Amino acid sequence: MWRVIIMLIEKITITLQALAEFEARLKPQGRKVTVVTQNIDGLHHKAGSQDIIELHGSLFHTRCTSCSQVLENRDSPICPALKDRGAPDPDAEDARIPVSELPRCSECGGLLRPHVVWFGEALDSVVMDRAQSVLRSCDLCLLVGTSSVVYPAAGFAPMLATRGVPVAEFNLEETPVTGALTFQFKGKCGETLPPAIALHPSEQTA
Ligand SMILES: [Zn+2]
Repeated sequence: MWRVIIMLIEKITITLQALAEFEARLKPQGRKVTVVTQNIDGLHHKAGSQDIIELHGSLFHTRCTSCSQVLENRDSPICPALKDRGAPDPDAEDARIPVSELPRCSECGGLLRPHVVWFGEALDSVVMDRAQSVLRSCDLCLLVGTSSVVYPAAGFAPMLATRGVPVAEFNLEETPVTGALTFQFKGKCGETLPPAIALHPSEQTA
């Protein structure tokens, strides 16, 4: 299968919309577009992308620290005790929220935490397996708006390039991996990406 992979950090709406439209346009052509992102802000979903791998999780999901159940949660605040606690005094040693008032799992009563990868934590192995599977079948990679310094994702594009997969980098400046890639589009992604992935005459449109 013709498969495109996109790795992206940027939060520019025009870029995200272009990617979502790209995916929707290529799908009827039997071409699969997968967004592999380090973003945790859910903006790809909001922009309309369907096939998304969030390497670092999502701020809009919780995970139970006891039973590991992951659920979508868009409550703000997530529980009454956390109301107006979004910007705590940095000198405060403790937010002094009683443990009994912290958000709890509806299944087992365990404490909930954001379903994101915190600094120093390993990436979810299931998510990494999905990403590796996409990488194996990928035949074109767009590397969009990433400084390519956060591993393991920073190693994905150079690995694909080594395998002979064309990789196009869209970024304001050169990155540590630029030299290993096939194409470079230097500039604002919102300006360089949409024309690069616009409808091409060779596409078999329905
Ligand atoms: Zn639980």
